Amino acid sequence: MKRLLTFVALLLVVVATSTAQQAKYIFYFIGDGLGINHIYGTELYNAEVHKEMENGGKLSFTRFPIRSYVTNHSSSSLVTDSSAAATALASGVKTVNGYMGVDADKNSVKNIAEIASERGMQVGVVTNVAMNHATPSAFFAHHESRGAYKALYEQYLASDIDFAAGASILYRRKDGLKYEDYLAQAEAAGIEVVHDLDAAAKVRKKRVLLVPEKPKSKTLEYAMDCKEGDWTIVDFTESAIKYLEREAKKDGFLLMVEAGHLDYCAHDNDAVATFEEVNDLSESVSMALEFYNKYPDQTLIIVTADHETGGMCLGYKNYKMNMERLAWQRCSMLELTDKMRAMREKGEVTWEQMQDLLRRELGFWDHVRLRDKDEKQLRKTFEQSFVAKQEEVVSLYSHNEKMSSTAVGILNKRAYIDWISLNHTGMQVPLFVKGAGVELFYDCYDNTDIPKAISKAAGFSLK
Ligand SMILES: [Zn+2]
Repeated sequence: MKRLLTFVALLLVVVATSTAQQAKYIFYFIGDGLGINHIYGTELYNAEVHKEMENGGKLSFTRFPIRSYVTNHSSSSLVTDSSAAATALASGVKTVNGYMGVDADKNSVKNIAEIASERGMQVGVVTNVAMNHATPSAFFAHHESRGAYKALYEQYLASDIDFAAGASILYRRKDGLKYEDYLAQAEAAGIEVVHDLDAAAKVRKKRVLLVPEKPKSKTLEYAMDCKEGDWTIVDFTESAIKYLEREAKKDGFLLMVEAGHLDYCAHDNDAVATFEEVNDLSESVSMALEFYNKYPDQTLIIVTADHETGGMCLGYKNYKMNMERLAWQRCSMLELTDKMRAMREKGEVTWEQMQDLLRRELGFWDHVRLRDKDEKQLRKTFEQSFVAKQEEVVSLYSHNEKMSSTAVGILNKRAYIDWISLNHTGMQVPLFVKGAGVELFYDCYDNTDIPKAISKAAGFSLK
């Protein structure tokens, strides 16, 4: 009887394995710097601040069948940087912080985009930061330095990436080329360079590079600072899906979407800007879910992160949180810095003028009650760091006015949110999975396991 039961159990396993659907359409979302508290914090923030949102502000991916977490250390540190983590997520190999698409001995390692291309799949790589920044580059480049932008871009040109979109192309002046020269190189490599979302989606039988004609900065606008007509990661995801769905034919596609801006906001310790980036990521995942609804047996969606940034703490004091107080922040810390600089350029700024700005952009005094010590800190920062001299808070990607950083920091604390770092932390990162081959992800414990599971789901192997 026991043997019979064992046989039946084995048979069930075989049947279950053989009936598992192969993933033909794969969406791989990477939130740069996305920690578990950024995700849960966004849902709490939405529930209080965006009461009009469907499902009480729940994100599109937090109810996926797999809601797990993975380790993400690099081979050189328990705290990874983006390039070592992206290499792990693309190639399943641990490497040294700063290395890109090579192992710790600097040997090139194959990534899932390259293998997918060899198998006839279409491949898309989109990001709201520069297209040759760390995370996207792990899907087409191999170099011992993530900062070798020219080499990374040249490897993109020589790659099989069918659809690429980004906010800009990073380059160094010492390399002697201008932005237009890099675009011309892409044209010369047979890539259609487009500066229009619809046009990008309509290109046929040709590789596409979608970037602005003249980038205003290295990244797109922060989600919360976007004006009418500004591109977002949601727009890029939509364009990519239209192109890939049409071009993919029988072999399917792999689309990597990086919400890269999130990391910038978290490096600044700007909670509202971070939450709005997470909302943009959630909307991009919703587009993948719409696609999933058309091809549920063949679509696989993965949402994960490279590392956590900022060490965001929800409820740092007094057993309290008060997300409602964040409702009055109208722009990111970075844009608030720009507004302060504009005031400075116009001439002498009074405390009353500064108060007006903080009232308008952060809701201070009118909607957010400040404690005496907050007022004192603001006034002191104003006198010492804005009037007497100009002081900045420098994070990895931004130079913020100290006044802006201090004011947003006070607002965060009034919501009982605090941050422990201006950099990455060693926290484990979230993993959400839904769709064809989902069962292969139950055994993912480390970030290197994810591309291996994707490969298995798609029917190829990543060594
Ligand atoms: Zn990162």
